[in-house]
Amino acid sequence: MMILTRLHRPALALLVAISATVGCSGSTPDEPLPPEAAQTPEETRIPEPPAEETTQAGDADRPNIVLIVLDALRADRVEADRGGTPVMPRLHAFAETSRYFTRAYAQSTWTKPSMASLFTSTYPGVHNVLFGTPMNLVEGQRTTADRLPEECETLAETLQAAGYRTIGVQTNGNMTRALGMAQGFDVYLERAYPAWRAKDVTNQALEQLAAGDEPFLLFLHYMDPHGPYDPPEAHRVAFPDFPAPPEDDLAVMEDYAFWYNDQVLHDVGLKAERETPDFSPEGEAYVRALYDGDCRYADAEVGRLLDAVYAGHPDTVTVILADHGEELWDHGSIGHGKTVYEELARVPLVLHVPGVPPERIDSPVELLDVLPTLASIVGIAPRPGWQGRNLLAREGLDPDRAVFTRTWSSLRETGIDLAAVIQGSTKLIYDRAAQTYALYDLDADPLERAPLEDALRLRRLAALLEAHDAANAEHPERRQPQQTELDEEALRDLEAQGYGGVRRP
Ligand SMILES: [Zn+2]
Repeated sequence: MMILTRLHRPALALLVAISATVGCSGSTPDEPLPPEAAQTPEETRIPEPPAEETTQAGDADRPNIVLIVLDALRADRVEADRGGTPVMPRLHAFAETSRYFTRAYAQSTWTKPSMASLFTSTYPGVHNVLFGTPMNLVEGQRTTADRLPEECETLAETLQAAGYRTIGVQTNGNMTRALGMAQGFDVYLERAYPAWRAKDVTNQALEQLAAGDEPFLLFLHYMDPHGPYDPPEAHRVAFPDFPAPPEDDLAVMEDYAFWYNDQVLHDVGLKAERETPDFSPEGEAYVRALYDGDCRYADAEVGRLLDAVYAGHPDTVTVILADHGEELWDHGSIGHGKTVYEELARVPLVLHVPGVPPERIDSPVELLDVLPTLASIVGIAPRPGWQGRNLLAREGLDPDRAVFTRTWSSLRETGIDLAAVIQGSTKLIYDRAAQTYALYDLDADPLERAPLEDALRLRRLAALLEAHDAANAEHPERRQPQQTELDEEALRDLEAQGYGGVRRP
C-alpha cells in the first residue's frame, strides 16, 4: 500500500503544484572519492568492472542471478527477534555469508517509483514513474496509473540482451506487465497477492528453473510482509508471545483496505469524517505481531528457494532487498509512501557473490546501485545514463556519500511531496509542498523525533538536494510521465492491497 495518514495539513490546495513537479533528484556518481574511501581494503580485494563489454567470455561463463524483492520489509527486521525468537533467521544467516549493506536507501518509499529506480538505475526525477492508481473519490473518476516507459532500458532487458534467460514471478499490482514492469522478461508470471502468497512465488520460480537454460535471471517479488498482514498459523505459533486478536479491533482488520483508505482520505483532508475507528493499543501490538509473522513466513519461503537454487546452481549471484520499509506507528501511522523517515527509506540489502568474502558494510548505498553492480559482476559495460555505483568497487563504499529518497505518495491527490538527503549521520527532509525543512542527526536521534536547529548543516544539505535536482533535470534520459489505462481486474487487485479504491464490496 502506500499512502497514508496523519498528515496535519490539508493537501488539496497543493495539488496543482505537485502535479507540475517533474524534476527531482540527481546524483553525482562521478565525484572524486575522498582519500579515506580510496584506502578501503576492498579496493585491493575486488576487481574494478571491465571498461568494455566482455561478450567474448561467452554466456555460459556468466553466473546465474537471483533478485529477490521482499515488499515492505523494514531494514530492522533482518536481525530482529520477538520474545527471543528470530523473525528472519534465514535472511540473517544468508546476510552473514554475503555483502550485507546495513544502510541501504530506497529511492522512493512506495513500490512503483522505487522499483523503477531499481530496474533503470535512475532517480525518480529521471524516470518519472511517480503515481499510482485512482482513489475513486467518484466511481471511475480516474482509471490510469503511471507506467514505466518502453524507452527505458531495464535490468531485465540488459541481461536478456547479454544472453540471459529472464524469468519474473511477481505478486504486486503495481508491478504488472500493463505498467511496463515486464520489459525484458522472457517469462513474467504474475498473480496479485494474496491470490499468490510466498509459497506460490517460490513454487512457480522453482518450476521455471527446472525447465530451461543458463545463465538465468530469476526475479521474485514476494508481497507477504506487505499489508493486509495475515501470516499462516505456523508463523504465528512460532512466536511464544504472539498475542491473541483483540476483540474490539477485529471488525477493523477484516475490512483492512477500506480502513486504510478511510484513514488516508481523512488525513490528507479529502474526507471530512472518518468512518472507521483507530486501533486500540492492543490492536496496534497485534498488527505488529502479524507483520513479524508475515516476515517470518517470507523468510522461510526465501530460505526454501535459496536451498533449491544453491543445490542446483552453486555459483549463483543473489541480491535480496526490499522496495521500501513499513511504518508501524513509528510516526503515527502504518503503511508506506507517506513519509521519508528511516523506517520507510532504509531497506535491507544483501549481495551474495560466490568468491567475494562476506562483509558487513555500513557506508550508505542506494538501490539504484544494484544494476551497475550486477553488470560489473557479469561483465556488461555500464550504461552512460546509470546513476548508481558499483558496490563491489571502492566508489560504492564511500562513507561520506550523499544518498537520496523521495515520495509523492502513490496518490497524486494527497499533495505529498517530500525529498530527503542523507550524508553521514545528517539527514535533511524537505517538504516541497509546505516549503519547510527538518534536519536530523541519525546518531543522536535515530527515531527522527526532534529536528535540529543548525543553519550551517541545513544549508549544506539543502545545497546537495538542489544539485541533485539540477542533475536530474539535465539528465539526457529524463522521461516524460506516461500513463496507462487499468482494467477492472487490475483495479480490484490494487484495492485488495490497499492501493486506491474506496468501494465497499
Ligand atoms: Zn512495495
